[in-house]
Amino acid sequence: MDILEFLDKSPVNFLAVKTLAQELLAAGFKQLCPGDAMPEVKPGDTFFVTKNDSSLYAFRMGRQPLAEAGFHIIGAHCDSPTFRIKPNGEIKCEGGLVKLNTEVYGGPILSTWMDRPLSLAGRVMLRGTDPLHPQTRLLHISRPLLVIPNLAIHFNRQVNDGVKLSKQKDMLPIMGIDGKGLEGGALLDLIADELATNKADILDFDLYLYDATPACILGLHQEFISSGRLDDLSMVHAGLEALLESDKQPATTQVLAIFDNEETGSQTKQGAGSPFLANMLQRITLAQGGTQDDYFRAVEQAFMVSADNAHAWHPNYSEKYDPTNHPQMGGGPVIKINAAQKYATDASSSATFAEVCRLAGVPHQYFVNHSDVAGGSTLGNILAGSLPLRGVDMGNPIWAMHSCRETGSVDDHKYCIRAFTQFYNL
Ligand code: ZN
Repeated sequence: MDILEFLDKSPVNFLAVKTLAQELLAAGFKQLCPGDAMPEVKPGDTFFVTKNDSSLYAFRMGRQPLAEAGFHIIGAHCDSPTFRIKPNGEIKCEGGLVKLNTEVYGGPILSTWMDRPLSLAGRVMLRGTDPLHPQTRLLHISRPLLVIPNLAIHFNRQVNDGVKLSKQKDMLPIMGIDGKGLEGGALLDLIADELATNKADILDFDLYLYDATPACILGLHQEFISSGRLDDLSMVHAGLEALLESDKQPATTQVLAIFDNEETGSQTKQGAGSPFLANMLQRITLAQGGTQDDYFRAVEQAFMVSADNAHAWHPNYSEKYDPTNHPQMGGGPVIKINAAQKYATDASSSATFAEVCRLAGVPHQYFVNHSDVAGGSTLGNILAGSLPLRGVDMGNPIWAMHSCRETGSVDDHKYCIRAFTQFYNL
């Protein structure tokens, strides 16, 4: 699937996992339920599991024994900064205007969410057969539905000198004018309509805002990708494409791990801080007839590519970047390095990834923080808590990370898929 289509079909974590699952099923991967007994697995077998409908782990078994060859793991995350609709979220205002009460998820650049067509996506829980098993329905309202309007410049002449935004006051989206009076219920009516279900059966929901403008290509030579959620869905897409394009009978077992909740610290059952992936790798080792010791040996042989976007050099802010390591748009995948080890990369794993790029015929570059700038962190190190893997933190360079609309490079995306495919085929 083309990256633009992938981005548009994946407005939030739950829908990204659905899109991934559909692509994997179409490619012959079998969906296993983590609550069922692991079936026996043999070389060439392909399968995947999901956790919480918002993280996904896909596997293709290699020809070599796990204890000797380990795993080739690509990890990325499917969540992005956004706004979650609070319970009792509907606020009726004068003139019948309905706005929604929201809570910020992750670290968005708030102002970028204003004056844009937005919509709602996520999951809705419906009454099930018993309280422990509510029914899950995914919701993707694909039409523009909401807007967070700016205040006119006439009310704030200093607006262009910088504005401090309140998450509670300034960032509440307006959904429409509801002529039905003040009793509320327009949001639940909408959800019930969209899902063709009874309003009384809606027990709860995880619903988020997303940028309703489709992803697009722009630039003099069509060199840029413009979209919400490039961080980190562009890496998720590259991982998926690599898994689908790589050898069907690989030497080494291939793993694609798409985590949730990276933007809030990864410490959830579906995040990289969870033992879920380690448990799955262990179960696979045993299902292949291996022992606990074989699992530990496999972890020692394994290599992880932790793929999360990097900061592209921005021509208007060159002073923010390291003088010798500021990745360029179109310059290829970026190896991320930090002396305090906020990134998993070290000379050994960096050397490996640089060689993978060279074998794939792909350029690579490096990112290190300007020494007076704190910088971010990502998945690689958090995963080390449950899986002491050798691995590299890398990603493609983008502009405006955590903006409602980020910009990346068309060439870098192609390079990344090639490098990942090469890695899986090693
Ligand atoms: Zn990220």
